[in-house]
Amino acid sequence: MNLTALLEFDRQHLWHPYTSTLDPLPVYPVAKAAGVEITLQDGRTLLDGMSSWWAALHGYNHPRLNQAAASQLQQMSHIMFGGLTHEPAVRLGRLLLQILPPALTHIFYADSGSVAVEVAMKMAVQYQHALGQVRRCKFAAIRAGYHGDTWHAMSVCDPVTGMHSLFSQRLPVQFFLPQPQTRFDQAWDPADIQPLAELLASHTDEIAALILEPIVQGAGGMYFYSPRYLIEAKKLCEQHGVLLIFDEIATGFGRTGKLFALQHAEQYGNATPDIICLGKALTGGYMTLSATVTTAQVADTVSSGVAGCFMHGPTFMANPLACAVAAESIQLLLESDWQGNVARIERQLRQELAVAAAWDCVAEVRVLGAIGVLEMKSAVNMASLQARLVEQGVWVRPFGKLVYLMPPFIITPPQLSRLTAGLLRALQQEYPQAC
Ligand SMILES: *Cc1c(COP(=O)(O)O)cnc(C)c1O
Repeated sequence: MNLTALLEFDRQHLWHPYTSTLDPLPVYPVAKAAGVEITLQDGRTLLDGMSSWWAALHGYNHPRLNQAAASQLQQMSHIMFGGLTHEPAVRLGRLLLQILPPALTHIFYADSGSVAVEVAMKMAVQYQHALGQVRRCKFAAIRAGYHGDTWHAMSVCDPVTGMHSLFSQRLPVQFFLPQPQTRFDQAWDPADIQPLAELLASHTDEIAALILEPIVQGAGGMYFYSPRYLIEAKKLCEQHGVLLIFDEIATGFGRTGKLFALQHAEQYGNATPDIICLGKALTGGYMTLSATVTTAQVADTVSSGVAGCFMHGPTFMANPLACAVAAESIQLLLESDWQGNVARIERQLRQELAVAAAWDCVAEVRVLGAIGVLEMKSAVNMASLQARLVEQGVWVRPFGKLVYLMPPFIITPPQLSRLTAGLLRALQQEYPQAC
């Protein structure tokens, strides 16, 4: 297709995430992607620093994932999950149970991360209802969190950046806790858990569950906090009969240096939630699929309620094509030296981004696992910075004050050096006085 015609149609008719239809940010047409390289339609290639929003762990166009999809296509692309089952769903389920904490045994497959969060929240409400706790239908959440864009997922996102005021007439009111102040590497400050202790002491009979992103708050601020928070939250939730939901949609599958972020807390005690949400990297970035996994106790209690079952059943539940690719992606991850790769990426990000900490335009540089974040002092000019990044041959998509890297785990050291150098050079051009 003619490039001008493509861009013209896109401009006139296609919505893109979080941009105006009146004055949209520019988009760059992509022809193909392989490994860590994205090839634009005009022939330029960009090194990928985003893994397509946490998802493409193994890079693009991976022969094993392609093969898994192609083989499954020969069998069936989709079949309904009501009354039927299939090997890809079971194969993926076995792998998930092998790598998740042993108490999490009951898997609900759905279409996307936001739906996994809706499913988790509905499970919590049905669970409390089945126990006769019919007033427990609100949620506790942490400020600066992000849990997706559907209605109830949105209600537990940060109330300011999540634009609750826009929807305030219709959005359910939830309880918000302050962001934990103890950083990932800092000594635990017990004052951090006080707000949760106080909330549960005063409102426990209204709260079905606490939902949080363990260790790494993603889209709400790219912030890393103490693993001890999870242990203390777990104790308090247990005491008060409040379910604990971990949203590992962004952090799952190795990104933070552990297979699941909750494992950073295991050295301090029991950090197994009642419900976990997985998505994004679940299929290695190939297609959309999510899983909400819970304990036998929660699943059986839900099923003992008036409805006699969990009230949710997506049309594309356990899509065989997505399950087959997801199972292959997890196999591939477990066979690879992902821990070595993430540790190597972490060291290199620390070394190569450190220089920016002294720049006037930068508030803070932080790195955890294969995530490198430059928090700027003010929001970046997206259109201008994005163009400079593309000119440097790197694909990095900042938002607000946050400029960050989370490359596929297969990125080589020289490629990663080109990525960090391209990022830093683009910032120096954007802020000639301040860098
Ligand atoms: C991306 C994300 C979601 C939403 O997932 P979608 O697939 O975009 O609906 C939910 N929670 C977290 C932590 C996420 O990063």
